[in-house]
Amino acid sequence: MLLHDQVAIVTGASRGIGRAVALDLARQGASVLVNYQRSATAAEEVVAQIREAGGDAVAHRADASDEADVASIFDVAHSRWGRLDILVCNAGINVDAPLMRLKPEQWHHVIETNLTSMFLCCRAALPAMRSRQYGRIITMGSLAGLAGNVGQTNYAATKAGLVGFTRALAREVATEGITANVVAPGYIDTDMAESISPAIREWALNIIAMHRFGTPDEVASAVSFLASPRSSYITGHVLTLDGGWVMP
Ligand code: NAP
Repeated sequence: MLLHDQVAIVTGASRGIGRAVALDLARQGASVLVNYQRSATAAEEVVAQIREAGGDAVAHRADASDEADVASIFDVAHSRWGRLDILVCNAGINVDAPLMRLKPEQWHHVIETNLTSMFLCCRAALPAMRSRQYGRIITMGSLAGLAGNVGQTNYAATKAGLVGFTRALAREVATEGITANVVAPGYIDTDMAESISPAIREWALNIIAMHRFGTPDEVASAVSFLASPRSSYITGHVLTLDGGWVMP
């Protein structure tokens, strides 16, 4: 139980990677706020699964890109547990189109959801983490932000921006017991990956050294390590998780 007595907030934890992260953090002993935007039933199922296993969790609906909603996430966690050790900024979307067909509203929607949400959540997390001189912040990047991806200029911009943001934050809080790291998955089998065309899927499976997509649980294991006291000397790092797709 690496995270016994600790408190975690996971944005976008109703489905996919966020769901697996919430379950794994709880397995390691953390109490978890399961944030979601639309999938209330799925979020309540995550909470039920954690409680059945003897853990503590609460679901909370909030748009992670809205300032007032984000404040409510941290208020709920504070009034229930009175502390915050771990923040996982996972909520994210893709709205893909070649650049010449990308509409301003599609650009802004992805920027707000993937990037502004991280700014709002990290800023809201710092007072509680600073008060105890301890914190673990993990932001969910993507290989698309490092290598680029056709039809994903908006998405790739957010995931590359997230790296700069996380590294700048890591420097700001480095002497306060708080670390900030990026987990950057390649292709992971979730609802998001279902929109990938058969041709792109075949191309990806060819170039990934392991010739398979990753699972949400495989991402969750990496997040749990970075969320634990064991990662104390790692900050500003980008941990790629891609089955050997991009090897520098
Ligand atoms: P997913 O299965 O589509 O799940 C997305 C999650 O984000 C859902 O829980 C959704 O909640 C939540 N969400 C979306 N907008 C939100 C908002 N405004 N406020 C709060 N929650 C919001 O996606 P996923 O594949 O698990 O992706 C999770 C993260 O990993 C994303 O940041 C994504 O960019 C990143 N990632 C994914 C892959 C991949 O191949 N799957 C690869 C690299 C990186 P509701 O359902 O309640 O709306």
